[in-house]
Amino acid sequence: MTLTLHIDAHRWRAHQDAFQQQVSGLVPVAKGNGYGFRLGVLAAEADRLGAQTLAVGIAEEVQQVRAGGWHHDIVVLNPWRPFDGAASALLDDPKVITTVSRVEDLRALSQSHPRARVVVEIETAMHRHGLDPRQLTADTFGDLWFEGWAIHLPADGSLTEANRLAQTGLATRTGPVWVSHLSVDDYRSFAAGLDVPTFLRVGTRLWLGDKQAYRTTATVLDVHRIRKGHKLGYHGVAAPRDGWIVIVSGGTAHGVALAAPVPQRSWKQRGVTVAQGLLDAAGRTLSPYQIGGRKRAFAEPPHMHSSMVFVPGDDSHVKVGDEVPVTTRMTTATPDRITWH
Ligand SMILES: *Cc1c(COP(=O)(O)O)cnc(C)c1O
Repeated sequence: MTLTLHIDAHRWRAHQDAFQQQVSGLVPVAKGNGYGFRLGVLAAEADRLGAQTLAVGIAEEVQQVRAGGWHHDIVVLNPWRPFDGAASALLDDPKVITTVSRVEDLRALSQSHPRARVVVEIETAMHRHGLDPRQLTADTFGDLWFEGWAIHLPADGSLTEANRLAQTGLATRTGPVWVSHLSVDDYRSFAAGLDVPTFLRVGTRLWLGDKQAYRTTATVLDVHRIRKGHKLGYHGVAAPRDGWIVIVSGGTAHGVALAAPVPQRSWKQRGVTVAQGLLDAAGRTLSPYQIGGRKRAFAEPPHMHSSMVFVPGDDSHVKVGDEVPVTTRMTTATPDRITWH
């Protein structure tokens, strides 16, 4: 009963290798669902790439990448907070670098864990986490092992802002600078303009940069003839026409058909959202499953491990045991199985 991720190993790795060759100081990011590949797989790939540091999102993920065979340094991207027990437990780990983003946290750590390795995050135009380095003095750092400044830019991060923030940090204290979300060209200019080590933290462009290198399929588990008006599913919805109900693997537990809110910056995007809303209101949500060459509507909302899809007409196009393509959002989908080709 599987949702299968197929990886073209040669192609996937060729993309990673090419990316790494363009970026000196690449820090691969392995967090969350491992961008669909799982954290252990990414840890092994980062090791194959020869990376010296791996970035994870939260303290709880440190154990998972270590289980995948990672033995080098790990930077935890989400900043430490005093109430985070898992993150606090890593402060004395000599291979873990903790991100700190508030003056009071830096001060507290310099007292409680004076030997901790820390990077200090600078507030950017994102306004998520971060501080203004001008609030700090040499005193605030105490004896902490300062690993540098972190700059987490918005998706279309600008070189100008990266430079400005790096200079603000370096004026307070010298050290390496870690950035996220600069283009490769901008990062190269950035690195060339500084006389401290630089690092670029990358997940999406590294793991998901070559969309031809991986694909997901679902297994057809059942096929039933259905007549127009006959009720089906948990909710007893009537079939809109004569056709077929195809039961495919993949459901809410796999994160299938989960849509995250999209940023609505353009009218075109708003139009797409409105059109999808009308489709939803008519009870015909397009599923991510492709049967007979096109995406088919859900017969009803996905179940935990499988989904019911409606195929109108006389031809069901598939039989039990067939594999059908399914479009997944890699950062929310978790396959049951990975096959390497
Ligand atoms: C997740 C994360 C990244 C990696 O983001 P991608 O868009 O997946 O490359 C980089 N930096 C920080 C601080 C992050 O949280």
